[in-house]
Amino acid sequence: LVVLTDVEKYFGDLHVLQKINLSIGRGEVVVVIGPSGSGKSTLCRAINRLETIESGTITIDGVPLPEEGKGLARLRADVGMVFQQFNLFAHKTILENVTLGPTKVRKVPAAEARQRGMELLKRVGVDSQAEKFPAQLSGGQQQRVAIARALAMNPKVILFDEPTSALDPEMVNEVLDVMVDLARQGMTMVVVTHEMGFARKAANRVVFMSDGQIVEESDPDTFFTNPTSDRARDFLSKIL
Ligand code: ATP
Ligand code: MG
Repeated sequence: LVVLTDVEKYFGDLHVLQKINLSIGRGEVVVVIGPSGSGKSTLCRAINRLETIESGTITIDGVPLPEEGKGLARLRADVGMVFQQFNLFAHKTILENVTLGPTKVRKVPAAEARQRGMELLKRVGVDSQAEKFPAQLSGGQQQRVAIARALAMNPKVILFDEPTSALDPEMVNEVLDVMVDLARQGMTMVVVTHEMGFARKAANRVVFMSDGQIVEESDPDTFFTNPTSDRARDFLSKIL
C-alpha cells in the first residue's frame, strides 16, 4: 500500500533519512521505534508530504505522492495523521472537528457527516462530549477525538507520531486500547511509539531506526527478545 524506495532527506548538512526502503502492506501495523533524533517523525511526515524528500520515491497504491494542489489535499485525506499534541481545532466543537474534513475535502453532505461523526465519536468513547470544545476535554479524550477525526476521512493508512507521549500516564491506555481495536479491525497503521505493550499486542512488524537509517526490521517477538544489531540492543537496554 505504501512503498518507500531509496528515500533520502537532508536538513542542511544533517542526513536525516538515509536510503530508506520500507513497504507497508494493506492491513499491516508497523511500529517505528528508535532514539530521539533518529528520523522517525520525519519519516512519518514524508509519507503525507508534510516534508519533501531529496530523492527516492514514495508511492501509495502505486501512485507517487502528488506535488501540490488537489492531489495533495486528497493525499492528506487518504493518509491520516495523529500527532503527539492532538492538534485539534481549538475554536471548533468536538463534532465539528470530526465533520470538517469530510464536508470540505470529501464533499460529504453535512447531515451525513454529522451522523457518521457521532458514530465515530461513539466508537472512541467520547460521543457525550460532542458539543464541547477541545480545551474542555482531558488529553486522553482529545487524542481519541483526533483518532476519530482521522477515521472520518476514510483514510487508507493512519500515521501515529508518539500519540501517547504527551498524556498523563493514566490516560495512555484509553488511547492505546482504541488503537489496538483499530489494528484488529484491519486498519493500516504506522505507529511511532515506545509503548512496547502496544507493539507486542498489535504490531506485525517493528522497524528500528537510528541516525536516519532503518537498522533492523523484524516481528515484535524477535525484535524484543533477540535484536540482532548492537544499536537496537543498546536502545532496548535503556528503555526496557
Ligand atoms: P524524537 O524521538 O525526539 O521525536 P525523531 O526520531 O522523531 O525524534 P526527527 O524529528 O525526525 O526525529 O528529527 C530527526 C533529526 O532532524 C533531528 O536531529 C532533528 O533535530 C532534525 N530536524 C527535524 N526537523 C527539522 C527541521 N525542520 N529543520 C532542521 N532540522 C530538523
Ligand atoms: Mg519525533
